[in-house]
Amino acid sequence: MSPHPNERREPAGGATERDRTGWGRVWQSEQAWRRWYADHPALATGKADPLSGSRSSASLADMQTEIAPVISIADRLRGAWQVCRWLGTSASRLALDIALPTLCVACREPVAGEGVCAACWSQLSFIAPPYCPRLGIPFVYDPGPGLLSMQAIANPPAFHRARAAVRYDDVAKTLVHALKYQDRTDLAPTMGRWMARAGAEVLRDADLLVPVPLHWRRAWSRRYNQSGALAQIISKQSGVRVARDALRRVRSTQQQIGLSRQERASNVQGAFAVSQDKTADVHGRRIVLIDDVLTSGATLDACARALLRAKAAQVDVLVFARVVETLQAPI
Ligand SMILES: [Zn+2]
Repeated sequence: MSPHPNERREPAGGATERDRTGWGRVWQSEQAWRRWYADHPALATGKADPLSGSRSSASLADMQTEIAPVISIADRLRGAWQVCRWLGTSASRLALDIALPTLCVACREPVAGEGVCAACWSQLSFIAPPYCPRLGIPFVYDPGPGLLSMQAIANPPAFHRARAAVRYDDVAKTLVHALKYQDRTDLAPTMGRWMARAGAEVLRDADLLVPVPLHWRRAWSRRYNQSGALAQIISKQSGVRVARDALRRVRSTQQQIGLSRQERASNVQGAFAVSQDKTADVHGRRIVLIDDVLTSGATLDACARALLRAKAAQVDVLVFARVVETLQAPI
């Protein structure tokens, strides 16, 4: 014999996903009433209905009315809220899809997914071996292990190794500018994943990721640091921790654009320092500096010097894009 449905507050066997919603409880209640009426056929036909002689069968609406006091107001509100939320998110997603189809960030053609379309993707030059083991500059042929590029020998940087995901050409430039100046933070996950793949070798040995900092005035006007956003994604991919504020700019520098190699180096000389409270964090660590673009390498070199002054064990560099003037022949 089934118990009276009003006595069944919780279904046997624990709550399922459907049970937790308001509609699930209505369904449960209907099942309970059906079972109870099956055990009390006289009541089900309405012949001996204690409440109403005119009722011949129990509809869902009738049952819900009678069961109403059993379902608490909080349960009803929770159920209704969940339905509204589901309808709301579905509707807003649909509205967004109709109003704002995702566009390729480089050519503005509609694209499935996010980032760049297939045509622009094919124009990106992903950097793969063979390349200079120090600077990561692509070689025209594979010289075998250990041979360096001419730049690495003529102007050895303070950092140990540099790696980049792509060459800094038109599409890469558009991506970098969108991330940096147009608040396209949605590009960071894709760009960060490409960087994590390109930098697998340096990330394997790393203890800490340090994003190149903006001066606070520039950070204020730009609202977020693109290198920090990329570092967060790379950290998720590699499991290497980010030390967000390990480096700081101790003086504002003019934009590097338009400066010669020499001017770039003197522009950023002494511009960075390890924060006082982070020196213990940096001491003896193998660090990977994260930035969006490597042009002459002057900024990254100045950052590496500051970290090495604070007794970092080793500093490597990982950027999204690097300028490659011409393909290098190894020396
Ligand atoms: Zn495109």
